[in-house]
Amino acid sequence: MLRTTLLAAARSRTCRTLVERAPVTRGLVAKYVAGSTLESALPAVERLTAARLVTLDHLGEDTRDADQAHETVDAYSRLLAELGRTGLADRAEVSVKLSAVGQFLPDDGEKIALDNARRICEAAAAAGTTVTLDMEDHTTVDSTLAILAELRTDFPWVGAVLQAYLHRTQADCRDLSGAGSRVRLCKGAYDEPASVAYRDKAEVDRSYVRCLRVLMGGQGYPMVASHDPRLVSIAGALADSSGRGPGDYEHQMLYGIRENEQRRIAEQGRRMRVYVPYGDEWYGYFMRRLAERPANVAFFARSLLTNG
Ligand SMILES: Cc1cc2nc3c(=O)[nH]c(=O)nc-3n(C[C@H](O)[C@H](O)[C@H](O)COP(=O)(O)OP(=O)(O)OC[C@H]3O[C@@H](n4cnc5c(N)ncnc54)[C@H](O)[C@@H]3O)c2cc1C
Repeated sequence: MLRTTLLAAARSRTCRTLVERAPVTRGLVAKYVAGSTLESALPAVERLTAARLVTLDHLGEDTRDADQAHETVDAYSRLLAELGRTGLADRAEVSVKLSAVGQFLPDDGEKIALDNARRICEAAAAAGTTVTLDMEDHTTVDSTLAILAELRTDFPWVGAVLQAYLHRTQADCRDLSGAGSRVRLCKGAYDEPASVAYRDKAEVDRSYVRCLRVLMGGQGYPMVASHDPRLVSIAGALADSSGRGPGDYEHQMLYGIRENEQRRIAEQGRRMRVYVPYGDEWYGYFMRRLAERPANVAFFARSLLTNG
């Protein structure tokens, strides 16, 4: 119920204004977001890449304006040029939300998003790194996977996120388990109806394991995006039983979440990639992080009441 309310608020303009203006918000946002500009986020990236890998997200989503979509492409091009120039491209790639580059624009949205994503892939190829397409709500999955297929004809290393809470995902994992495919498997962060998604946590977890089994048993490169200790350990066991070594898959976690566990996995010689968001369009991302953990909401609500 609380999760549903918060995820509805993530799409509300009024709530956005309230939350963005609350004095307490900035400190909490800083826990999950590395900086409001590329320059302010780079020190965190440099620190993390000493022992971990990184994927950078230039925050933004749900763009309704073609100029803004182009600005996002420019921001990614600058980011990728910087990763190339500083030598970070070996250890840092980028994550892109297609809705930030025009997927929801009227008429030609999908085509605009494809063209824009292609430009980002060209910049990634020039820098010597890769791109992974984030997955948004279930209405975007067919379009995102169609764009992925187009991009992979020229850039076979483009990866995508699949969400274990969707009923369709085990079949999507099968389709994307071939050689060269990179799939980031997560539980899913949006409020989805029971007609398309498991809504019970235990069911989502069981689906995650089924999907992971398909990916680990396939020929692609699985990216295990979860902070859940049980799933992290099941991933290790499935990798072993599928004959995968430490270079044949990776763990992924979000910036600011379970830092000690991130370090522990990296210290064991396993690949650990941190998803690092930056930029000032943090509202939707931040609200989804609040919705994931009731304790976050209680803390935020208390801070709002005591600090105004
Ligand atoms: C690299 C990466 C990329 C992702 N990309 C997408 C995407 O493209 N589309 C999408 O729908 N979702 C995405 N997600 C989010 C994902 O779907 C989940 O919502 C999120 O990861 C929480 O699920 P969990 O597997 O960590 O398990 P949970 O059961 O939710 O959490 C396990 C434990 O992790 C810790 N934890 C989890 N979330 C938080 C939090 N917000 N604050 C503090 N502690 C927390 C807690 O200790 C919790 O007990 C991504 C996640 C990761 C790690």
